[in-house]
Order: sequence, then C-alpha cells, then structure tokens
Amino acid sequence: MTPEPHHDRFDADVIIVGGGPIGLTTACALAHHGIDCLLIEQRRAPKPWSRANNLWARPQELLAAIGVRDALAEKSYRITQVNTLLNGRMIDPVEIADVPSPFGPVLYSGQDVIESTLAEQAAAKGARIERGSKITGLEQQTDGVFVTLATVGEDDTQETTGPERTLRCRYLVGADGAKSLVRSLLGLDFEPQRLPNCMNRQVDAKLSWRRSTDFDHLWFFYYPRGFCGVLPVWGGYHRLFFLADDTGIPDRDPTLDEMQAIAREVTGDETLTLSDPQWLTHSRFQHGAAAHYAKGRVFLVGDAGHLSLPAGGQGMNAGFHDAVGLAWRLAMVLDGKGTATLLESYDVERGGEHRRLDAQQLRGFQNSVYRGRLKDAAMDVAARFLPNIGTLIQGTGDLQQLTVRYPDSPLSEDHLGGLGGLVQRRPPKAGERAPDAAVILGDGRSTTLFAYLYNPDGISWGWSLLAFDGRHGEALPRLRQAIADIAGWNWIRPRYVLAAAIGEPDGDIVLSDLDGEAHAAYGIADTAALVLVRPDGHIAFRGPADRPDLLRAYCEKLFGAEDPQAAGLARKACGPALPVSPLELSEGALAR
Ligand SMILES: Cc1cc2nc3c(=O)[nH]c(=O)nc-3n(C[C@H](O)[C@H](O)[C@H](O)COP(=O)(O)OP(=O)(O)OC[C@H]3O[C@@H](n4cnc5c(N)ncnc54)[C@H](O)[C@@H]3O)c2cc1C
Repeated sequence: MTPEPHHDRFDADVIIVGGGPIGLTTACALAHHGIDCLLIEQRRAPKPWSRANNLWARPQELLAAIGVRDALAEKSYRITQVNTLLNGRMIDPVEIADVPSPFGPVLYSGQDVIESTLAEQAAAKGARIERGSKITGLEQQTDGVFVTLATVGEDDTQETTGPERTLRCRYLVGADGAKSLVRSLLGLDFEPQRLPNCMNRQVDAKLSWRRSTDFDHLWFFYYPRGFCGVLPVWGGYHRLFFLADDTGIPDRDPTLDEMQAIAREVTGDETLTLSDPQWLTHSRFQHGAAAHYAKGRVFLVGDAGHLSLPAGGQGMNAGFHDAVGLAWRLAMVLDGKGTATLLESYDVERGGEHRRLDAQQLRGFQNSVYRGRLKDAAMDVAARFLPNIGTLIQGTGDLQQLTVRYPDSPLSEDHLGGLGGLVQRRPPKAGERAPDAAVILGDGRSTTLFAYLYNPDGISWGWSLLAFDGRHGEALPRLRQAIADIAGWNWIRPRYVLAAAIGEPDGDIVLSDLDGEAHAAYGIADTAALVLVRPDGHIAFRGPADRPDLLRAYCEKLFGAEDPQAAGLARKACGPALPVSPLELSEGALAR
C-alpha cells in the first residue's frame, strides 16, 4: 500500500501515539493548556483489566494541576494505612497518608477505570482521540514530523486494512507502551534485563477473610518464597498477587482454587475465600530504561521509555510525571514563550529519573522476592527498630514520589546555597518539589501556598514567583523592583510572602506569613529571597532578592527576550487574589 504524498499543512500541533493512561494524560494536559492535539490508539476500546490501580500523592498533585485528579478520585478508594507482616509477624502499620501533601491518601482504582475516566476528560477538554488506527512509521523534518497510519482490523490490532495515510504534526509523543514502535524508530531501543526464577500470579476477585476488607487498607505479606499483596480494586474487588520463586509452579495463568490455596497458606487464614474472579493472570519480569527520552521533535512518555518492575506500584505513576512535565514544555514552546532549553531539559530530567527509579525498583524487587534466611533474619531485627521497614523493603521510604527532583536539570538554578545553614530545616533546593505551607490572605482567610502555585489565574502553564521578605519590612521595595524587572514575562505570577505588614496593597497577591511557616518550609531565614516555581510545582530558581539580575538572566535564558508590551499589561494579567479556602484544595483550587 502506498501512502499518500506528504502535505504542507499541520494536522495537529502534537500527535500522541498510544491511548494508555500516559498517552491519555498527555492529551488531557495538552488540551488543558489549550494545545491542539490528536491521540492515535490502535485499540478500539481500553483493555478491561485492573493492572495499575494506584495513584500516589505526587502524581495526584500533578493530575490536579491539569484538572483531572478529582474525576479520578470519584472512582477510587482512599488508602490511609499499609499493614505488613514479615514471615507471620506484624510490623508497625505505616500511616501512608501522613505525608506533606493535600493528597496524602493513596487512591486505588483500576487501570481500566482510570483509562476511561482520562479518555472522558481528554475529550471534554477538546483533545481529539482516534481509535482503531496504528502508527506504522515516522519521518522527522526540521519543522515537523510526518507519521504514517494504518487502519487496524475489527478484532485484531496486528492486522491492518485499507491504504495507509500520513499526518503531519509539529511534535510527536510516543506513548505506545513497552513494545514502543516510536522508541524503536528513534533508535532508542534497549536490551532489558530479565529476572530469572520468579513469577507473579494474581487474581482480582471478591475476598472474604478474617482480616479487614475495608477499602482503606493495603496488606503485604513477606513469606519465605516471596511477597504477597492484598489491594482494593474499584467495584468491591480485591487484587491478590504473589511475587515468588517459580520452582515447581506451572507456566500458565493460575486457577481460582490455586490462588485461594496459596492465599490461605501465606496469610495464615484458613477461612480466606475468593469468589467471582474478574482476572487471573501470571507474568515474568524484565526492566530497563531508554538512554534518551527525546530525539529531535519526538518525545517518549510512560512505558514507551521504560520497563518497570512491579515493586512499589511505581510504573504508571512515574509516567504521569512524564506526561505533565512534557505537556507544559510543549505548550510554552508552541506559544513562542520558551527557548529550546525547555524542551531539551525533558530528556535530562525524566530520563535521569527513570534510570534512578529503575535502580530503586530493582532493590525493592530483590528485597521482596530474592530473600533467604539471612536476609529475613536481618529484616526481622530491623523491623523492630524501623517503623517504616515495609516501605524500605520496597527500596525507598518515598513510595508517594514526593522527593522526585531534578537538581541537575538545565532548568534548576540555585543561588541560595549559603542560607541553608542559618535555618533548622534543610531548604528545598532548585529542582525539588516546592513545599506547601499555610498562609493568610489579606482579608484574614486561611489558605495555602499550593493554591497560588498551581495555575490559579488562567494561564494554565504559568510560573509562580514567591517573593519572601525574609521577615523584614524594609525588603519590600527590593521585592517590588525584582518583580517589576521580570514583568515582561507576564506568565510569571508574583506572590508576595510577607512576615511584615504591607502598607498599601497594589493589586498583587499578598500572602501573610507572620509566624514564618512558609519561610521555614522554604528554608528562608532572615534574608529576602526570590523562589521561582514551574508549572509542575518544582522549584526552578532560588536567589537573593538583592540580586534581581540573576533572576532576569535566568528568565532570558529559558524564555528568550521579554515582551515589551507585556511589561505594561503584566499587572492586569495577574489579576486579583482568588477566594480559595484550604478545604477547597482539590484541583478546583489548584488548576484554574
Ligand atoms: C499486572 C500489572 C500490574 C501493574 N501494577 C501497577 C501498579 O500497581 N502501579 C503502577 O504505577 N504501575 C503498574 N503497572 C504498570 C502500568 O500498567 C504501566 O506502567 C502503564 O500501563 C503504562 O501506561 P502507558 O500509557 O505508558 O502504556 P500502555 O498502558 O502500555 O499503553 C500503550 C498504548 O499504546 C497503544 N499502541 C501501541 N503501539 C501503537 C501504535 N503503533 N499505534 C497506536 N497505538 C499503539 C497500545 O494499544 C496501548 O493502548 C502494572 C502493570 C501490569 C501488567
């Protein structure tokens, strides 16, 4: 079949290949930022199985920033406690929701539900979704990318029918999963490492047992042959998985009777009963990450760039960082507001993070599955002293992904290194997640910084500048000057964070921090400082308020020359303070 000749017009600013959770999130994020995007998915309907069913705190923050978190939460259970047993002995439960995020409780749903919710959200935001077509090739040019498409058969994504056609876009996003054709066409394939002698067997079914079936708990059992989890699945079901030594286990999907028998043995509950099975499956393991996440105008997101191990439920969750992080960059560049450095930083940040996560998951997997008497004895002793041993066994104390950071990114610039020593708390540096803190609005209402970091005033990919007075009123003129100096980049929204009282409000947002909670959260003691925060809530720049030239140079580097007209209009675009209360800290507050 001969494809039609290449054409001059662009069929979409961005084409996304693949409508799994990460492709759909990319579509939601781009549409949220007003970008014209087209998603091509070969399947005519989403896969019906639960697969990834959890949403950790940090991905929830990112999903809230693009306005889709609340819809996902409507069809999710909220997990607050993780119970762990090590060879039959109960370890102190982990209060997993007890983290510094508005979204502490972990959401548990099912990937099928997550995908259909995201598809609805993407369509509602104006993204175009074309099902039943697959990408078969791509060709990059200096100003765009051509992709070749074929229509798939009614029941089979391998079979294609009819002539191929070509579409042209400015940027292409490969979200086409673990066997990514886009990755392969970019020459970014990698040899995954296979982990021998172990297998995952799992079932989604109705559960009755003598422990709690409340849908706000997770249960983990480390037993001599491996690791078992009991997790809620949306609709009143539980997933039971057994990641274990495969010796003597048939290489096929398990039966319900087999799953019930092993579940009774591992949990020590002879009454445990499974019924109404929705999905019985088995799998083996391989892992790895691509050396790069971008080439020219083509980017990888989600499983297209990495094969993740089932350790700590991180795979899909890591993909949400890709989707949200790429979308605001593309939106800025397509709007002519960002230099090439913005796009180049995606590969540095997300590629580096996936390789770090891969190593963490390998540790977690080995601790969970490849154990022996010696390792168990050491873990048993450690469990008596370390309350969070359960999460440490998973290879990290931060399953909630709140410490994901990009210190080596070309977007991270830090000029406040010296201030750390003056304050009690280690300050969050450039590249780290900007923390939340309670502050007070001018009319006395309580709010939090988050309500003023995540796009509350209409430019959904906008940046926020926190101007801290260092708890000294005389810093105010310097802060005003620094803010005036960058007024030409009018998508940077200034937020004064002041311990001192302000005389005449001049229309900018003033967040009162009399008791210094926000100053402390950012490690700012008695020196006035400027902290620039990206649309995804990572700190981009920290600098002293008396060096506004540093901030200006940063803006020039990343955003290019300022818009002279915008300088005059900047105040209008930033708008007045919005009526936000801390109770409204859902995406409604974060994502306007
Ligand atoms: C049993 C199991 C349990 C898991 N549990 C968890 C968990 O608890 N937590 C977690 O975070 N992760 C978990 N994961 C991982 C998670 O499922 C993946 O990380 C997630 O699916 C990745 O989403 P994605 O959108 O990147 O890719 P995919 O979901 O693989 O979607 C890719 C899409 O691209 C389409 N596609 C492929 N090629 C083309 C083409 N040429 N043209 C058009 N379309 C194409 C495919 O049809 C597919 O719909 C689990 C995985 C499995 C298998």
